[in-house]
Amino acid sequence: MILALLLLAAPNVLRVYTKPIEPFSYKKDGADAGFSIELWDRVAKEAGLKYETTWVKTVPELIAALEAGKADVAVAAISITSEREKVIDFSQPYYESGLQILVGPGGQSSAATLVNTLFTWDFARLLGMLALALFVSSNLLWWFERRNNEENFPRPYRHGVWESLWWSSSVLITGGCENKTPTGIGGRMVAVVWMLTGILLVSYITASVTSAMTVKSLTSGINGPSDLPGQIVGTPAGSTAERYLLDHKIETRSFPSVDEAYVALAAKQVNAVVYDAPVLLYHAAKGGQERVVGHRFERQNYGIGLQEGSKLRKPINETLLKLTETGYISELRQKYFGDTD
Ligand code: GLU
Repeated sequence: MILALLLLAAPNVLRVYTKPIEPFSYKKDGADAGFSIELWDRVAKEAGLKYETTWVKTVPELIAALEAGKADVAVAAISITSEREKVIDFSQPYYESGLQILVGPGGQSSAATLVNTLFTWDFARLLGMLALALFVSSNLLWWFERRNNEENFPRPYRHGVWESLWWSSSVLITGGCENKTPTGIGGRMVAVVWMLTGILLVSYITASVTSAMTVKSLTSGINGPSDLPGQIVGTPAGSTAERYLLDHKIETRSFPSVDEAYVALAAKQVNAVVYDAPVLLYHAAKGGQERVVGHRFERQNYGIGLQEGSKLRKPINETLLKLTETGYISELRQKYFGDTD
């Protein structure tokens, strides 16, 4: 009886569950910190709610705690998905997010880059253009030279063009041809045009190959989600990123936390990490060699997780909307991400 009275009299302390996902919720000097943690704290204060926090490791644990009635509220960077909405409730979205890709430093080895650059359709097209230009110019040269310079460019077509091809190739590759030279006006004009064309074509091909190789060696060949098939990709278990990778049949290595995925990327056990864009950008901005590549995909919003049918939903939503209207959420974005959009 006394116990029941005590319980009734005790202030209702909400059980708030969270998990580490920097910079949304993490421990800083032993204290709870982060965008979501600060936002929740403000919501709780405004709505007159008292709470205590419990830390778990993954989003599925947060959802399970809500489902089992162990937690009243879950705050981290929880994406609102239809699958989760079936078993728990969500507040209004308070942060627009999505997935992105993190790759390690450098990229492909130079041998791999060379092979990947030379055996492409683009390069084959370039070579084809060069071969065509060589053939046309050699025919013209032979045509002009075949009568007055029969010694160097014999009159019979096959033999003559063969010799002419030899001249054109030597000029293209070595800049000259010692044992033969066009003598007629027409032949010399073709020769000049060919020499100029040759310089342009060779520099164009060199520039294309060099830039393609540079881009490949810098970007590791992964520039967006369409480059992920065929790669081994790391991600935290139970995340929406893992769901995306599995749905797209991409070879996935799941880790208990994103920190382990970063370690695997550094050790080249995975070729990329796919995870929440703001988390990867925040990680990359801290320095280090990893880079975020490609655009944000799989747009998803973060919400506060609540028990199915929770009475807290209305007061929390009202407060969240109020905090949006007063510009508090924008200020918080500015503080953590340096942007307000
Ligand atoms: N937004 C991700 C999700 O809801 C975060 C995953 C995580 O915190 O590990 O699945």
